[in-house]
Amino acid sequence: MIKKPLLQLQVFKMNKGILEQLDTCYSCRCGKCLDSCPVYDVLRFESVSPRGKVKTIYSYLQGEIKDSQEFMEYLAYCTLCGACEVTCGVNNLVPGPKVSVKDIVNVTRGELVSKGFRYFPYEKIVSSTVKEGNPFGRPNKERNWVLNHVKQNIKAEFLFWIGCTSTFYARDSVLSTIKLFDVFGLNFTVLGSKEKCCGLPLHQLGYFHELEKIISDNIEKIKELDVDFLVSNCPGCINFIRNYYKEFQGELPFKVVHTSEYISKNLDKLNLDKLNLPSKKKLNITFHDPCHLARGLGVTEEPRMVLKNIPGVDIIETPRNKLDTWCCGGSLRLSLPHTSTTIAAKRILQIPEKVNYIVTSCPTCKINLRDGAVVATTKYGAKEIKVLDLVDLLAELYLTNNKIL
Ligand code: SF4
Ligand code: SF4
Repeated sequence: MIKKPLLQLQVFKMNKGILEQLDTCYSCRCGKCLDSCPVYDVLRFESVSPRGKVKTIYSYLQGEIKDSQEFMEYLAYCTLCGACEVTCGVNNLVPGPKVSVKDIVNVTRGELVSKGFRYFPYEKIVSSTVKEGNPFGRPNKERNWVLNHVKQNIKAEFLFWIGCTSTFYARDSVLSTIKLFDVFGLNFTVLGSKEKCCGLPLHQLGYFHELEKIISDNIEKIKELDVDFLVSNCPGCINFIRNYYKEFQGELPFKVVHTSEYISKNLDKLNLDKLNLPSKKKLNITFHDPCHLARGLGVTEEPRMVLKNIPGVDIIETPRNKLDTWCCGGSLRLSLPHTSTTIAAKRILQIPEKVNYIVTSCPTCKINLRDGAVVATTKYGAKEIKVLDLVDLLAELYLTNNKIL
């Protein structure tokens, strides 16, 4: 049956750009995207592939699939990693607007949410984020632990934005970063329990109407500190604050920097070339590019530049790296945990044999890849492998005489 181009059906709230993308992909359906999708890789249903998602959402907009709870659940099967945009046949061969399946899925989730449909795991994330200020259902005052580790009452040059995942589940990396900043002699501050979620989870789940207040409150709080910039270990926070906040509030009065960018610009202060590795052990390291860092922020060389400056480090690239990086599945940890960990395990299986350490630069990637490494070892017989954040590696080598490596 020949369907009408969606752009001729002026009944949807979806914007023209998204409808154009749907029409473009639907009339092409080349499938060049299939090999890049982590969800399709583990589930192997065409309907969850990027092409399948476009076809299903197209049928929904044609009225062939009804609004329903089941459709809402189906839409959960996307990490919004953006990998399919890199391999998309249209994007690579045809000039003009690009097809972004992550944007198509994101906007469709928003459509369902605005019509009152809900997916239970999302509800818990959203209500905790709105009420407490974090998506994990934890009392936000627990964030105050960090205050014990940071000098108070100083004129801070910048804010160390901790991020929800780091503050609750990657405190080791937060402490590593604080130690490194202290070595640099930097004056910085933290917000403790005044820090609240940046809003990225709500955006990804399609709860757009909740975002405006969160974003304007966060901007006001940061402005009050009178700092020139904020730095964070979390590429999700940085990508969202740098690239999306301005959609709501215009240009920001402060800069937004990822830790790997900051450290790579200050390498002279670290004196890594003078590092004396006690064990003289060679470190065969692969860098896992987080989706938000690589595709979101375009940051791929900075962490590698830091690694290259460490004596004894050999960088061994894993297939699917830099802008083409393979998602770790971390954004599904709360909503589809089994799928999330299976995706991470499959990523671990891609790591070349010679690699001893996976280094990444994202708290969610670190946690999810660690879980994936356990599954890869126990279920698929992979060798055991350590996963570290870049800041953990530096703190370990530079400040603790290489005890854990
Ligand atoms: S954004 Fe990622 S998870 Fe979603 S369809 Fe594309 S490749 Fe698959
Ligand atoms: S590669 Fe692009 S155009 Fe082709 S099916 Fe996938 S999303 Fe559609």
